[in-house]
Amino acid sequence: MESHEFQLWLSGIGNLSAEQRTQALAFLSERGGGDEDGWRGGEAFGESVASSARGRDRLDALGGVGHLKVGGQGCPHCAGRNVVSWGRSHTLARYRCKDCRRTFNALTKTPMARLRKKDQWLVYAMAMLEGASVSKAAQACKVHYTTAFRWRHRFLSAPATDKPKRFTGLVEADETFILESFKGRRSDIPRLPRKRGGKARHPGSFFENIAVLVARDRHGATFDAVLPQPDAASIKAAVAGVITQANRLVCDGGLPLRAFARRANIRCHVVPAPGKPLPEAPHFHINNVNAYHGRLKEWMRRFHGVATKNLANYLGWRRAMEAWGPQANPENWISSAIGMGPYQQLTR
Ligand SMILES: [Zn+2]
Repeated sequence: MESHEFQLWLSGIGNLSAEQRTQALAFLSERGGGDEDGWRGGEAFGESVASSARGRDRLDALGGVGHLKVGGQGCPHCAGRNVVSWGRSHTLARYRCKDCRRTFNALTKTPMARLRKKDQWLVYAMAMLEGASVSKAAQACKVHYTTAFRWRHRFLSAPATDKPKRFTGLVEADETFILESFKGRRSDIPRLPRKRGGKARHPGSFFENIAVLVARDRHGATFDAVLPQPDAASIKAAVAGVITQANRLVCDGGLPLRAFARRANIRCHVVPAPGKPLPEAPHFHINNVNAYHGRLKEWMRRFHGVATKNLANYLGWRRAMEAWGPQANPENWISSAIGMGPYQQLTR
């Protein structure tokens, strides 16, 4: 296909419904899955990237993402940059490092290494972007439920740690509480099991609610953390080095954040009380963080309560989707899952 025709074809993808996109991906992955003939041992890596005419050879079960990762990060064994293409294996392009002479693929030493059925990963990533349930994702990829569940947390492992390393300018911060779920636990339940996803019997009680801190600057960079306790020490442990004296903090006046700011010597502005606006400082508000809390909780309702140990993964899931915004696509997700998340790319 000519390149302008291809661009036209691509632009039509924007009009597809979520379901049509999933179908299209499943179709593409089936058609492309048999392409095992890409042996190009020893071909110089840079040349092959430059040649768009042969770009198709760079597509494997990860789309073009694996090639970008190896191009950007080099050899996973020695960080060497002297890397050449080294054929294919198990639907993935292989590479060889001329410095340490070892071979690898784009997944080597990532949380995604050695997961099977790679030809279904892009379909699975699409299901995750749609926030599909484990059963729906399993159906779309024709894998067992337990496989789809295992994949969910492998796909989330790297995004969970992909957060901004620092903020610019004004930073809004506020805590919220997410209901703890004990589903799946047979013993060690500290109280009678509640109907899943229900309301805490004692609103605000920290025993049944997990404290989550969300901080966001005015460029949209978003940091979140599960707090062991809603106190200044936990906040310090979470955001030390991220919110610094170079920033100004805006919060709603809760004691933990103010104590953290005072001890860290960070300028802190408390939002005006309701009905008492500060016309001279309209930018001192935490509307962005509060809106983020709202979107996070609304989106999390579909999971009917998550176990505490998995909460960081779900926060990362939401954070990644917000960071991509309209650019979210399955390749982004794979990219994130192998250690090139939106924040890693921004701050590299
Ligand atoms: Zn090497």
